[in-house]
Amino acid sequence: MSIAANIAKIKQELSQKVKLIAVSKTKPVESLMEAYQAGQKAFGENKVNEMLSKYEQLPKDIEWHMIGHLQSNKVKYIAPFVYLIHSIDSESLLIEVNKQALKNNRIQKVLLQVSIDNEEKKFGFSKETLFTILEKYNNKAFANTEIIGLMGMASFTDDTVQIANEFQSLANIFNEAKIIYFEKVDSFTEISMGMSGDYKIAIEKGSTMIRLGSSIFGSR
Ligand SMILES: *Cc1c(COP(=O)(O)O)cnc(C)c1O
Repeated sequence: MSIAANIAKIKQELSQKVKLIAVSKTKPVESLMEAYQAGQKAFGENKVNEMLSKYEQLPKDIEWHMIGHLQSNKVKYIAPFVYLIHSIDSESLLIEVNKQALKNNRIQKVLLQVSIDNEEKKFGFSKETLFTILEKYNNKAFANTEIIGLMGMASFTDDTVQIANEFQSLANIFNEAKIIYFEKVDSFTEISMGMSGDYKIAIEKGSTMIRLGSSIFGSR
């Protein structure tokens, strides 16, 4: 099937509440353009250089989503235009993102990445550290940053019960954080979870943003 047909088929399954991020990493700009012409405006990339190069070549109304581990020293390159950073996984990165947002006179939307998988736990906050950051955020520590939700990745496994449990744990942490830290505002709304192999489970567990690569563009 074509990229356009894949997008149409997936969108048919989605309710209004779930946003589709087309993960275009490693794919050529021609493929992104095909998706764009099919009405897709949100693209996810995991490398700064690749996002920057595609940003320069493609229409300016595209929303660029950074979904991969981001090094602090590279934030400055995407800070002028990146729409949403899903992968804030350390306080020092958040401080740098806030600093670059200030320089660019922007309020940068971000998600905080939470470690929910059973594996190496390479990236992402524990619940405890997450709540420490949210406490500081509430005390205006990151004034040029808007934390609009959480992101998580399930373990790479065929065990759908385990995947469902991991997504449920992210939804539970989200709900708890919302009650404790966002009682008076309705800006904390997004749960970015679900990839090509597990997005249906993620949606059942309350995902509002799914990040799909191979099911749109084919295998990498
Ligand atoms: C590559 C990637 C995706 C998309 O993966 P697919 O299995 O191709 O849908 C989603 N999220 C992150 C963080 C990724 O790195």
